[in-house]
Amino acid sequence: MKVTEEEIRPEVVFNEYLKLTAEDTITYFSNAVKVEIDCPSCEGKGNDWVTKYGFNYKLCPDCKTIYVSPRPEMVSFNAYYKDAPSTKFWATTFYRVTEKARREKLWKPKAQMVKDTILSLENSNKFKYIIDIGGGYGVFDEEIKTIMDIDAIVIEPSVHLAEICRNKGLAVVEKFMEEIVFGDLPNGRKCFVSFELFEHLHDPNFFLQTVFQNMNSDDVFVFTTLSGMGIDIQLLGENSKALSPPHHLNFFNPKSVTNLLLKNGFKVISALTPGKLDMDIISKNIEFIDDPYWRNLITYLDEEEMNLVQDKIVELGLSSHMMVTCFKP
Ligand SMILES: [Zn+2]
Repeated sequence: MKVTEEEIRPEVVFNEYLKLTAEDTITYFSNAVKVEIDCPSCEGKGNDWVTKYGFNYKLCPDCKTIYVSPRPEMVSFNAYYKDAPSTKFWATTFYRVTEKARREKLWKPKAQMVKDTILSLENSNKFKYIIDIGGGYGVFDEEIKTIMDIDAIVIEPSVHLAEICRNKGLAVVEKFMEEIVFGDLPNGRKCFVSFELFEHLHDPNFFLQTVFQNMNSDDVFVFTTLSGMGIDIQLLGENSKALSPPHHLNFFNPKSVTNLLLKNGFKVISALTPGKLDMDIISKNIEFIDDPYWRNLITYLDEEEMNLVQDKIVELGLSSHMMVTCFKP
């Protein structure tokens, strides 16, 4: 089944969300204290790449990670996520309009993907828990429980979202992952998951340390995030909708995320980009592409050829949506 961008990000609603976000970046971040940071993967010195809504993105010349620097301090993000108009719009209007399509097109395939990943591991019958970090509305957890005999625990700091999960009969730990200590989670083999969270993290190294500390040997962590080597992000630059401050602060790629995980003690099983939308996105945004070769190519190829290019992009790990599987040795 072909997934189009329109179904999961309807343009009119998404554009309203982007408009509110642009306003919020001024309200919450224009006077924020900002700190210069090095590449969060290899600690190299990044070069300025693009600036959007007052946020400066750097690109690391060594590992190609894209990251916001100087980076506003955590306190500004806390205020923003607590009560900004765009945050509220996302959690209410945007979510309501897209829930059905997202459940079918995003969450069911993700549940299947995590199930397949678990079943491909040794002693997969020993997995007792899914730990869903930043589980939001708990849709993933509802879906995986319908296709697998496994318990799900949602880690969700938002009072409003935690309540929604509890009303669905899901177990919830109402904290940020970074506040979880050993003992907050039950014993038994666990598969930690997080979806579209990693690009938001203020300090990815600290986040990974906390996850690692709460894992036992042979526990697994599966997460999805955006890849900065994604072809749409690279070609569209500041016009890429994925480049959305203040939300998206880190764009690792399959190689740089592997480096980051190894540095934090994990062993990496795979870092893949199973995306489907890249060519759809660049075709729709052709006016923003500066490179004449790519503009010509997109209009020259027919639909079937575009699908072949998309397949090749996926094969080479060059799609903008990345899925990473790693474990604690
Ligand atoms: Zn780097």
